[in-house]
Amino acid sequence: MEFIKTRTIMTKSDQGSRWFGIDYHMNLYKGCSYGCIFCDSRSDSYHIKNFDCIRSKENALEILEQELSSKQYKGVVSFGTLSDPYNPEEEKYEITRGALLLIRKYGFGVSIDTKSDLIMRDIDLLKEIQENNNVIIKISITTSDDALAKKIEPNVISPSRRFAVLKCLRDNNIYAGVLMMPVLPFITDNEDTITNMVEKASQSGAKFIYTKMGMTLRNKVREYYYEHIEKLYPGLSNDYQAVYEKNLVCNPLNYKKLLEKFVNECNKYHLLCDMAEIIKDYKKPIPRLQQISLF
Ligand code: SF4
Repeated sequence: MEFIKTRTIMTKSDQGSRWFGIDYHMNLYKGCSYGCIFCDSRSDSYHIKNFDCIRSKENALEILEQELSSKQYKGVVSFGTLSDPYNPEEEKYEITRGALLLIRKYGFGVSIDTKSDLIMRDIDLLKEIQENNNVIIKISITTSDDALAKKIEPNVISPSRRFAVLKCLRDNNIYAGVLMMPVLPFITDNEDTITNMVEKASQSGAKFIYTKMGMTLRNKVREYYYEHIEKLYPGLSNDYQAVYEKNLVCNPLNYKKLLEKFVNECNKYHLLCDMAEIIKDYKKPIPRLQQISLF
């Protein structure tokens, strides 16, 4: 794996905690080898060249320790918004695990997005972090259909395995749920997919399932996505172009009906699906740490 130079690791969330209550962002890795054909991180807005090749940041843990030790507010640190923190290189290099050790040492909270079962290696640390601060794990699942997932997320473990990971996290009392993003027009925008996803999330003990019920197609992502769906479903890229032209946000044509179905299914299984409610449910005040920071 190549290591690249950097001066900073953590940045303050520019969304003011509106996205899953996150206070700080960081990406310990650049690029991702999981090959999801719809991946938004391929966009040239993020300036990640050779996206399928994983790189890490030189001295990432030393820089992170300096940053964590200098911050007064022990907020929730997000791992992996532009790359999966549990990519195949993590098994060898343990950079994500090293960062979790520092998060535990300095008393911060953590938010992790992943599609990998490697997260189960770090359950011990997640439990310890959760004793003093807030933890939320989002297992990213686009469809419950293993065969379809193999086509659109070729290098990722199957959805069945991801639901099993979710169950394992919940069996260990770690706050976790499903990130059902994106919903792909003409492919996963149907009631069966929604019903199965919510049912399986519930059976796996998920606390929540969150979706925006659509997808984004930025520059570079659009070209890559069309090239791949054309191989899987000849002619489908023409349908996309006819309906969405150059739109950034591509919502399913039956968006309202699907969203209504989704909310009804979530209510049926008592699963949270509203962002504000998810944040309220998992993110508790941290009085002991706040008190310490006063002195
Ligand atoms: S796992 Fe996430 S970051 Fe990696 S290719 Fe898939 S969507 Fe992109």
